[in-house]
Amino acid sequence: MHTQFSVPDADGYYGEFGGAYIPEMLFQNVEQLRTQYRLIMEEESFQKEFNALLKDYVGRPTPLFHAKRLSEKYATTILLKREDLCHTGAHKINNTVGQVLLAQRLGKKRIIAETGAGQHGVATATVCALKGLECIVYMGEKDMQRQEPNVARMRMLGATVIPATSGSKTLKDATNEAIRDWINNPVDTHYIIGSVVGPHPYPDMVARFQSIISKEIQDQLLNEYGVDKPTRVMACVGGGSNAAGAFYHFLDDSEVEIVAVEAAGHGVHSGMSAATTQLGVTGVLHGSKSIVMQTSDGQVVEPHSISAGLDYPGIGPLHAHLFNSGRGIFINATDEEAMKAAFEISQLEGIIPALETAHAFAVLNDMKFDPSDITVICLSGRGDKDLSTYMAELKKQVDHE
Ligand SMILES: *Cc1c(COP(=O)(O)O)cnc(C)c1O
Repeated sequence: MHTQFSVPDADGYYGEFGGAYIPEMLFQNVEQLRTQYRLIMEEESFQKEFNALLKDYVGRPTPLFHAKRLSEKYATTILLKREDLCHTGAHKINNTVGQVLLAQRLGKKRIIAETGAGQHGVATATVCALKGLECIVYMGEKDMQRQEPNVARMRMLGATVIPATSGSKTLKDATNEAIRDWINNPVDTHYIIGSVVGPHPYPDMVARFQSIISKEIQDQLLNEYGVDKPTRVMACVGGGSNAAGAFYHFLDDSEVEIVAVEAAGHGVHSGMSAATTQLGVTGVLHGSKSIVMQTSDGQVVEPHSISAGLDYPGIGPLHAHLFNSGRGIFINATDEEAMKAAFEISQLEGIIPALETAHAFAVLNDMKFDPSDITVICLSGRGDKDLSTYMAELKKQVDHE
């Protein structure tokens, strides 16, 4: 029996979730990736270049910071894994560096990606510029209007941003456009997916690239605190890549508690939520079987979260399995709770977090901590990109006074 949580079986299944549900026309592309990704990732020259870029370009290892005032508030030890200090402001670049190096070794000259808020698009455009690769980013027309600064960043980095003008003109329409492009350009193009979602081997491949986060946590705990594991690791979950990276090396050690925080939007049962495990059913979304928010006749439900990165109607198959098996604890935080937590972390620790990340902090009030516990929270990104949302909140606070 397959008992490991961190890696899927040969067909890409974590328990009952995963696999590759793709149109015939994509088979060649995905098959090439499936047969090659492990071999390439294990090559010495790949490892060498990947690790060198993580160190000198991304800025790794990121610190494991003892948040003393936050720890004091909960009478315990809380450590923050500072992915917000990565180049481009979040964990996403760990994966794009890895996939760009892999694409080069597959002989690809052209990179495509889809993006919602633009964070994955910016990370992809960044590494393509570094490597001199053509970069095309598909983005919903509506998202392009909502996320103008990120569209400008991508263009400044030399990427072509193509608006997706069908459907709701948001992320899922951009994903459809990217898939269409890949079908039409199977030989020279690599499609970089930005989270632990999509058909096998993407979830496993992205989790491996992001697993550097928990590898560093392990080393830092040992060197700085003299322990080989934390009591628990917490992270927010959109598709689940920062969480997968932060959990990875602890998943198969049942002594480490795994806490995943989803976005409840206006409330789990408000009809405006993205708490996938609470609202979803087993279904197929973007090429893999997972837990999906959909109606009884299979229509994907439009999710809602104040944070664009968590505004997704599914979760990666790894997380669906963690939820279903009980290995992971899944809780959620509303828009309002996340906003409050963002201000609290800013004022307790002098760190303005991304709105996505703020969800992981918003649940601390509901948790029980032992004084001897060591809790690691993945601080997935910085709040610069959310400043206009924070400014609107500040204005509301001033108007109230
Ligand atoms: C994109 C993003 C997320 C959500 O994506 P995951 O794949 O679930 O990690 C979380 N935090 C930040 C800062 C992001 O940019």
